[in-house]
Amino acid sequence: MAALYPWQKNDWQRLQELSKRPPQGLLFKGGKGIGKLDLAVNFAHSLLCQKPQASGIACGVCPACHWLAQGSHPDFRLLQPDALSLAGEETESGKKPSKQITVEQVRELADFLGLSAHQGGMRVVVIFPAEAMNSNAANALLKSLEEPPPNMLFILVTHKPQQLLPTILSRCVSFTLSVPDAPTAICWLHEQGIKNPEQALAAAGFSPLLALQGDAQTGTDERAKLLSALRQPASLDVFALAEMLQKTEQVLVVQWLQQWCYDLAAMKLAGSLRYHTDEAEAIKKLVASVAPLELARLQKLLQTAKREAQHTLNPKLFFESLLLAYRQLLTV
Ligand SMILES: [Zn+2]
Repeated sequence: MAALYPWQKNDWQRLQELSKRPPQGLLFKGGKGIGKLDLAVNFAHSLLCQKPQASGIACGVCPACHWLAQGSHPDFRLLQPDALSLAGEETESGKKPSKQITVEQVRELADFLGLSAHQGGMRVVVIFPAEAMNSNAANALLKSLEEPPPNMLFILVTHKPQQLLPTILSRCVSFTLSVPDAPTAICWLHEQGIKNPEQALAAAGFSPLLALQGDAQTGTDERAKLLSALRQPASLDVFALAEMLQKTEQVLVVQWLQQWCYDLAAMKLAGSLRYHTDEAEAIKKLVASVAPLELARLQKLLQTAKREAQHTLNPKLFFESLLLAYRQLLTV
């Protein structure tokens, strides 16, 4: 079990309040990479532990905690796509593991739901990520949410609540996780041995776990080269840069561009920066003669690009068009 993250202290307090009268459905929502699943699992463990600590954290030594550690607690289920639980292994049939939570998986819960709690206490099902339920799975789950057995808690974990059925949402108590504050996250990343925690955090869109996983670290070089080119639009070699970037994950590159352009707009409108806090002078100069409306247009273009980035066939062309738009705007 992962420890609570330092930015989750308040959330944990709120959960302790909730645990006095747990609802039957809880919807954990919040950004990617802030530890939603870990918090949900910690909460489940705390409810199932036989002798939780004063803070509510599971003791880690009672029989229930042992079962949980071995993944064999009879009153706990974690429902996730095979692609996550098998972590890269192939399924028995040799097929690629599914990225969806299937109706079969939800139906397998039925037996679990039909039983009474093995330990006579709570039973907990954690579903992660809840938006991975296909519509059959969601409808099957809805039946259980409508008539839950006593002492049953469903925790649905998602960063895309808008993709869940309204009928499911309406049966869950919504629990929005706190956004990790930057100083706490930076301090934590530093403790985890990340060399440049400020930069890693900003590059990961302020998601500490993504920053740790290295999503942000991969391509650190590419990002640095991109930023250095963006700083000097007049001499920006669109074609060479697009060629250099073509092997980097497209979504990631668009995200870097979005962060940069976000800061251009923020500097223009409010004189402040979010992602590139050490580049105030350079950015100020860049946006001096650019109209706010033009910056907004560029941001909109990047938003569309982010959606397209998942299925573009020619990354080089794709990057070229974005960089051209950028150069054109910044060199007027
Ligand atoms: Zn325990």
